[in-house]
Amino acid sequence: MEKIRKPVLADGKESTKTIFVKDVIPQKINKMEYDIRDLSIPHWVIDNQFINERGEILEFRDRLFLYDILADMSQVQVIKKCAQVGVSVTMTLKAYFAAQKGRMNIVYTMPSDTDVSEFVKTKADMIFQSNELLRSQFSSDTVGLKKIGDRFIYYKGTRSKTAPLSTSADVLIHDEMDRSDLGIIEKYRSRVSASPYKGFWYLSNPSLTGVGVDEIWQKSDKKEWFIKCGKCGTEQTLNWEENVDQINKIYVCKQCGKELTDDERRKGRWVATNPGSEISGYHISQMMAPWLSAKDLIKEKEDRGEDYFRNFVLGEPYSAGEEANVRQAIYDVWTPKPIDVEPYFMGIDIGIEKHYVIGSKDGIFKIGICKSREELEAIIEKYNPVWVMDAGPERTWAEEFRKKYPRGFLNFYRKDKPQATMIKWGGYTQGVEDKKNWGYVWTDRTRIIDKTLYEILKGEILFSLTREDLEKYIKHWESMRRIIEQTPDKTERYIWETTTGQDHWCHATVFYYIARQRSMQKMEFLPERDEKKEIIERTAEGFKMRPLKEIIEDQQQQEDES
Ligand SMILES: [Zn+2]
Repeated sequence: MEKIRKPVLADGKESTKTIFVKDVIPQKINKMEYDIRDLSIPHWVIDNQFINERGEILEFRDRLFLYDILADMSQVQVIKKCAQVGVSVTMTLKAYFAAQKGRMNIVYTMPSDTDVSEFVKTKADMIFQSNELLRSQFSSDTVGLKKIGDRFIYYKGTRSKTAPLSTSADVLIHDEMDRSDLGIIEKYRSRVSASPYKGFWYLSNPSLTGVGVDEIWQKSDKKEWFIKCGKCGTEQTLNWEENVDQINKIYVCKQCGKELTDDERRKGRWVATNPGSEISGYHISQMMAPWLSAKDLIKEKEDRGEDYFRNFVLGEPYSAGEEANVRQAIYDVWTPKPIDVEPYFMGIDIGIEKHYVIGSKDGIFKIGICKSREELEAIIEKYNPVWVMDAGPERTWAEEFRKKYPRGFLNFYRKDKPQATMIKWGGYTQGVEDKKNWGYVWTDRTRIIDKTLYEILKGEILFSLTREDLEKYIKHWESMRRIIEQTPDKTERYIWETTTGQDHWCHATVFYYIARQRSMQKMEFLPERDEKKEIIERTAEGFKMRPLKEIIEDQQQQEDES
């Protein structure tokens, strides 16, 4: 096997990584003549003096940890990372190199089309346009598609209005994986089946433990950045609890307590902590960045809070305290009794696929996915339910549906202004203007999700589903996180966010609940007191649901008092 000599690091040492030609060029097209040095990506970057999106020459003095990542052509690679250390720039150059020199086709995904547009314009294009050598190779250049000779890099959002690309590729790069729709990422897998290389490169800030990028990282060889203390010689990874002297705000050796210099943090090496795995994994934290001091990071922690700090500074996932809790809560309200009695209520979440739940006044007895509008119509005709679906994504046919099946309502989530009412039905005020709002319902997004979850916890929504369906269903709730968001006017509010993009059955359940409320003529508003006693609490380990028993006891007590 032809071997490329090991690239030399900026400090004169050889890189730990060996690259094989076969890793870089798919066998079928291995006939071209190459300058062997062209096949080392770091050499290609350094020799050509590429400049980054800020106009600075790319060098590795402060970013030695990116060197091996740049050179790594492992088939499956995963980077669990903090924010702003240059990983996206690294992957942009790797993608270009793989397309031009490796003659591969690349699909590069970001969470949404908006993310794609922003990323390409402010990062990728800045790099391509700033470097004549890169720019000159483009035969076609749009935001979504870069053609380099007869190869391409497609940039595509996962939460796109259009279906995933049907084109085949050699490498799939999933950037910001944990904010992406993991269902769509899964659908892309088959796109590389015809490739001799079949590359999967994942990179993201982590979200929850065991979800998205962390799930793949756990299976990888888990490379950590080991640095060496200049005094006692102990090689160690940097750990927030052990390596930071919080009083003097300095980095210290976890063995002997000596202050670690920036240079000692700079010169590390990647060591696999789970050797033997075929997945090449890297964990990057801002503690590895020599241009950031311990003092900088301590301030970041104080300013941005614990959750942000773990995720975006340390590159670690949240411990998902709520996972076991939601699962338990739903299993607690599983019922063996048949609850399949009329009248029926249905919630439908519209996406490329249509997720639905159907239930009675007691709870949910059926969940499913429809691929087409016709399938969905067949189910509505079978059960004749009162139904609610989201008005947003498919407005035209949602309107057609509403006319065809008049027991239905279109829901609009309101997120921007705090509303006095949690649910507002259109057409209720008898006003001429309001008349045309018949069939619409506006709900306060955060509060209605809170309320639905609360109804589940209280046992007001039961589940009569098979274990298999229940497991699939629970996964969607487990992806939900209730986080604090800064509003433009600098106030804070809670919002629900999915960590996997797979939250469809949660919304379908919320819509089922709205339909049920409508029909049971119980125009409930979430009472003031519920908001003071949060169902979801913020704890040191992240967000946790309070124990069901405690919530019900509280509720009881409040009812007794009033
Ligand atoms: Zn030491």
